[in-house]
Amino acid sequence: MTLNRADCEALDAKDPLAPARDRFILPEGLIYMVGNSLGALPKETAARMDRAVRQEWGQNLVTGWNRDNWVDLPYRVGAKIAKLVGAGADEVIATDSTSINIFKLVVGALALRPGRSKIITEPGNFPTDLYVLQGIRDLLPDRVTLEVVERTRLLDAVDKDTALVLLTQVHYKTGEVLDMARVTRAVQAKGALILWDLSHSTGAIPVDLNGANADLAVGCGYKFLNGGPGAPAFLYVAKRHQDQIAPPITAWFGHASPFEFSDHYQPAPGIVRNMTGTPAVLGLSALDASLDVWDQVDMATVRLKSLELGNIFIEQVEARCTAHGFRLASPRDDSRGSQVSFYHEHGYPVMQALIAHGVVGDFRAPDILRFAITPLYQRYVDIWDAAERIGEVMESGAWQRPEFARRAAVT
Ligand SMILES: *Cc1c(COP(=O)(O)O)cnc(C)c1O
Repeated sequence: MTLNRADCEALDAKDPLAPARDRFILPEGLIYMVGNSLGALPKETAARMDRAVRQEWGQNLVTGWNRDNWVDLPYRVGAKIAKLVGAGADEVIATDSTSINIFKLVVGALALRPGRSKIITEPGNFPTDLYVLQGIRDLLPDRVTLEVVERTRLLDAVDKDTALVLLTQVHYKTGEVLDMARVTRAVQAKGALILWDLSHSTGAIPVDLNGANADLAVGCGYKFLNGGPGAPAFLYVAKRHQDQIAPPITAWFGHASPFEFSDHYQPAPGIVRNMTGTPAVLGLSALDASLDVWDQVDMATVRLKSLELGNIFIEQVEARCTAHGFRLASPRDDSRGSQVSFYHEHGYPVMQALIAHGVVGDFRAPDILRFAITPLYQRYVDIWDAAERIGEVMESGAWQRPEFARRAAVT
């Protein structure tokens, strides 16, 4: 069955998520397909930032910590994220960056597995995940060994010396989704802990950390959660581990009573000990407002539309571009997250040309063109039009113009 543009218009007309698009500020005429790198700006977030800056900071000044509840933001925002990842409200906090949270949870979790030294991850994991683990191994050479094992053999490498496995649930390049419940069970069967990186899962696919009995997780605030550039990240610690985990950054906001100004560190009970320093109030305010967009929507509906948009995009791009060297890098079935990637030998200039023609995706070295599917603000016709424009750029050879070959710092 091949669709046409009118079919896409009809799908938009009966789309239960169609009203959500109205909650975003989007540039006219642009088809934005990078919501997995930087989500779009919700209208209420723009309004909230204005209030947070002018009223809360500008007028309320330091009283904002109590009066505007700045001090609770990591927990309030954490509770909103918890709903999207199947966690308890007291199991998630919004704080720091994903990289820092990986460091904190990995080192902190060593206290949960005192006799075990091995940490396992897979090659091709997101670079920061690999780099942070390499740093931990170099920092604690007598305590930690690191094994980077191919996905196909990874579970076999988990043994009685394994303390922790770190995996990203949705692969940032291909969008392939790992079965969280199955992998968690297999890792825990050997007595090891699992830390899930949910950067490309949260707000993209239904996640059920409690249902999977996951131990630990981290994720991003600026991708599918639309928290804004450099938004705070989040971390999850299962209730059962919260009073044993030993955060390596023993900072004052994780202290049992920070405002006693004691000389001695005493970790707070519960999730609080995973805080570091003073919360980033402006970033948290933006993320807090952006999360309200999810109030009206059901993740199962988002997932259904995401897969449909992805399927249409694959069908339409392949029909136009297979002859121009596009090759699908993502799964065709529902083991695909909320993105579609294609291999192309000249990925960089092709993506630059697409951006110049109003289809914004991104390029991941060496040869991947990535297109995010964000059902809250993409219409079926957008997907159709994107495929059509991509076809035109390839057909006309516009991507071969020399200006598209010049590399920028951020791809
Ligand atoms: C985007 C992403 C990160 C980002 O980490 P930062 O500390 O926010 O830069 C980490 N892990 C994965 C899997 C990601 O996709």
